[in-house]
Amino acid sequence: MTSFEDFFVKCKCCEAFLIGKTPKTETVSQSALYSDGMIINDLIPLNPQKLVLCPACGYLFWLQQEDCLTAIAVEDEQKAYQWNSWRFFGCNLLDNKGRMALINHYWVALEKLNYIAVSQEIIIRKSLLWAYNDLYRDAGSWQFSDFLNGKISFNYWLSSKRFDQQGVELFNSEKERFIANLERLIYLLESSGTAEIAELAELYRELGDFGKASSLLQGVLRRTHFIGLLNRHVLEKNKNVFKVAG
Ligand SMILES: [Zn+2]
Repeated sequence: MTSFEDFFVKCKCCEAFLIGKTPKTETVSQSALYSDGMIINDLIPLNPQKLVLCPACGYLFWLQQEDCLTAIAVEDEQKAYQWNSWRFFGCNLLDNKGRMALINHYWVALEKLNYIAVSQEIIIRKSLLWAYNDLYRDAGSWQFSDFLNGKISFNYWLSSKRFDQQGVELFNSEKERFIANLERLIYLLESSGTAEIAELAELYRELGDFGKASSLLQGVLRRTHFIGLLNRHVLEKNKNVFKVAG
């Protein structure tokens, strides 16, 4: 089981304290890595949150490492906002409505932030890509055979199947915005020269441009486990995010 350490950050607008948590590296085990770069451990995404919406005043700010404190006064800690009130903008990612709400928060952030550097826009758009893929990332994790093997009840299997279907439907209904985000992310990564070839190949694959993904992969000399899997999914013309390890 992953255990966490508290940190504290003060909202620059209203000065409210927010309590955050970082996983203790030595307790992180059984992480799952996905093709889009998302890492999940014990149902919790490990990729650190960079953008925060203050739960007290609605101010949107970047979480800078140098602003994070390891301790604050006891009276401040008692009044501080808990992690679940601002983590993922307070959205419940175990619910499809919460997953959609997170997607919308990122779109609003892109509109609302007056000036953002390319590196910051890349962070938001990658987070947006992960949020979209979260709509179906764990779909099918419970199979009918799990009910037959007595791992879950029939009702649990049925409700998880409905939940998965709803997530896929929501993802499909967002296709236009999903593609717009991917195209802009690819443009930013290519023009800033900050992307790795494999990362770009993955983004083109998710876009459905298998020809471009394939030609990029031909330029990758190190044939890792990930590259092998990526190649296979490109050949199969599969656009879906997939689990790489874990
Ligand atoms: Zn605030």
